[in-house]
Amino acid sequence: MPLNILIVGAGVCGPALAMLLQSSDPSYNITVVERSASLRTAGQQIDLKSQGIEVLKKMGLFDTIKAHCVEETGLEILDPKAKPIAFFGVSPSGERRMALTSEYEIMRGDVVMELYEASLRQNAKLNGKLAYEFGKTIEELAQDGDEVDVTFSDGGKCRYDLVVAADGQASRTRRLAFGQDASDAAFKSLGIHAAYFSIPRIEGEGGNAKTYSAPGSRMMFTRTSNRPVTQVLLFIMKDVEELSKSYKQPVEKQKEAFAEAFRDAGWQSDRFLSEMKTCDDFYAHEVGQIKMGRLYNGCVVLLGDAGYCPSPFTGMGATGCLVGAYVLAGALATHKNDIVGALKAYEDVARPPVEEFQTLRGPPLGALFPSSQLGIWVLRNAMWAVSKLEQMTHRSPAQNAQGWKLPEYAELNLQA
Ligand SMILES: Cc1cc2nc3c(=O)[nH]c(=O)nc-3n(C[C@H](O)[C@H](O)[C@H](O)COP(=O)(O)OP(=O)(O)OC[C@H]3O[C@@H](n4cnc5c(N)ncnc54)[C@H](O)[C@@H]3O)c2cc1C
Repeated sequence: MPLNILIVGAGVCGPALAMLLQSSDPSYNITVVERSASLRTAGQQIDLKSQGIEVLKKMGLFDTIKAHCVEETGLEILDPKAKPIAFFGVSPSGERRMALTSEYEIMRGDVVMELYEASLRQNAKLNGKLAYEFGKTIEELAQDGDEVDVTFSDGGKCRYDLVVAADGQASRTRRLAFGQDASDAAFKSLGIHAAYFSIPRIEGEGGNAKTYSAPGSRMMFTRTSNRPVTQVLLFIMKDVEELSKSYKQPVEKQKEAFAEAFRDAGWQSDRFLSEMKTCDDFYAHEVGQIKMGRLYNGCVVLLGDAGYCPSPFTGMGATGCLVGAYVLAGALATHKNDIVGALKAYEDVARPPVEEFQTLRGPPLGALFPSSQLGIWVLRNAMWAVSKLEQMTHRSPAQNAQGWKLPEYAELNLQA
């Protein structure tokens, strides 16, 4: 009997997994449920790095996705008068250096859309059984031996051989399968609140990203690259109750909480906060990592941010998603209908790269968020020194290509 598989969440890893699973066995019945009424294409720039790029190449999607790369030329560190004091260039994809801009920077929405459309194209080509259902989520999970009974938000019920949690950092599927306590305990806050949104671009904003530190442990970024809008990223490393509470409230309340937290932050904060009121792609969260002792429970498995969110401070979120989807599909393809054996193999193979991707490089995060003007002065000068050092020690990607190696799974029937 072909496996009946439910994937919860059509973000980055949901469609990627659907495509990889179907490539290994077109007879799988694959349903992807997405809580939003349509594909959620919001979000700012995300990085694609080494092993993630390898997965895309194997899927035959690298060139298509690469065509969406934004042209960001580097990062300027601004002084109190908003003049650049230090500059970091573009980091090659095989490296994890002290740079914001990596070789392959792509808008999250473009990655999500390309993966989704490619999965539908493949489904048509293989005459497969992949279906997306929008505006729907899961309400209950009950495991019965080697099957999972799922109750959906529309009242429907269905039985699956495998349920994949691909529903992001705050995964409901993780909570239902592992319990509220284990799920909550897995969230390791980095103590930072972040908001991302787009505003109209103004004259003179070039291809460089810019960052400005403000007292009160606040940091503001703009990223304009070659796009017609300016991306704004606000970060604050402080315990602000209003921000913590706001994430469970409507977006308008989140905007109000960030407007209050960044009032009088200097530079162009008045412009950012004024435009934030009317932006339509606002996304905010408490920055953290997800660290689960196990990646599966029975026949429910965690994928991407739901299982091992590394946080935007690593730049490895999308790469972790793609690697996780590839390893999970590979484990299922090699173990055929032995789901538990496949999930164990997934956990064993994925654990080392997951830990590697979650490693926070560079200085302790606290050092990047000084609270006083003096601390900011020290930070800017340290950044200047590091930027000079990086320019002197620049290495080629080949010299840096190291770390975990992607396994080969012939059973996935991929192009490369
Ligand atoms: C709207 C949005 C904007 C983002 N913006 C940025 C950004 O600017 N910078 C950055 O670094 N990272 C951003 N991220 C996070 C980034 O996409 C992930 O860190 C990373 O790519 C991992 O992808 P994922 O597929 O595991 O999870 P996600 O990309 O978060 O996708 C999860 C998907 O599951 C859906 N979902 C959630 N709960 C349920 C549920 N109960 N039932 C069904 N579906 C559900 C979500 O709507 C979403 O489509 C954003 C995520 C989202 C959802």
